[in-house]
Amino acid sequence: MQIEHLNLGTLHALGSLYFPQWSRSGTEDHLICHSLLIDHPRGLTVVDTGFGQEDLRAPKERLGRGFLFMSNPQLSEEELLIRQLETRGISPDDLQHIVLTHMDLDHAGALPDFPRTRVHVHATEFEAAHHPSTWMENKRYQPLQWDHGPQWRVHDQPGTTWMGIPGAQPIDELDGDVLLIPLPGHTRGLCGVAIRLDKGWLLHAGDSYFHRLEIDPNRSRMAPSSAFFHWLLQVDGPKRRESLGHLRRLARDHADEIEIFSAHDPSELAPFLSR
Ligand SMILES: [Zn+2]
Repeated sequence: MQIEHLNLGTLHALGSLYFPQWSRSGTEDHLICHSLLIDHPRGLTVVDTGFGQEDLRAPKERLGRGFLFMSNPQLSEEELLIRQLETRGISPDDLQHIVLTHMDLDHAGALPDFPRTRVHVHATEFEAAHHPSTWMENKRYQPLQWDHGPQWRVHDQPGTTWMGIPGAQPIDELDGDVLLIPLPGHTRGLCGVAIRLDKGWLLHAGDSYFHRLEIDPNRSRMAPSSAFFHWLLQVDGPKRRESLGHLRRLARDHADEIEIFSAHDPSELAPFLSR
């Protein structure tokens, strides 16, 4: 099973001005949208989609002025998932599965570009996005990104326990090699996506943390910009901290078998690209 790591978006968030002093190399002054392209025997699969073609055509209408101001996205054609697949000879209908960590607009934007692809999402997140109950939920989800009627596969089983985290939902259509791992707090139903490898696991942790140092097993700490964005965007602070606690434990106790990365930290993408 081949896995490719993609960057589907570049953000020059206000907070990322503070990232250089917290980064490993000292050069990261932007955020990325880390996505996976999985060549699974049961069908080509993508984890998170970044922005879509329509978002680029009408950013103010589809992404909102608030997001554009806070995140200052680059919105380039070359970063779109559909273009990156095209350069690999993959047409939209070749993509069988999209797995979403959550439905924030920078993760679900390209759904309209793949109308016939099955879209997997946790039931709690699906509910939050379709019935937003707070000001922030109304801003962060953009129903225009799914008003074409995606082929939803909403996962609502009690689930199993994965590495001590309850409620994990194996995706049967992918032979259980890919699981949704509940890590709520940033959004109501945010999940990590765990992928079983020949040896060990990959865990795409979505926006459950923003910067690698937040789960550093030696001395976890949080940049002021991360703390601000967590505070601004979280729907449930105690649950977010509990989720972060799970990730710190995995980073400390299972580093040899689970490789963890988050959605927006460029220092976590670079090592995969240079392999
Ligand atoms: Zn995000």
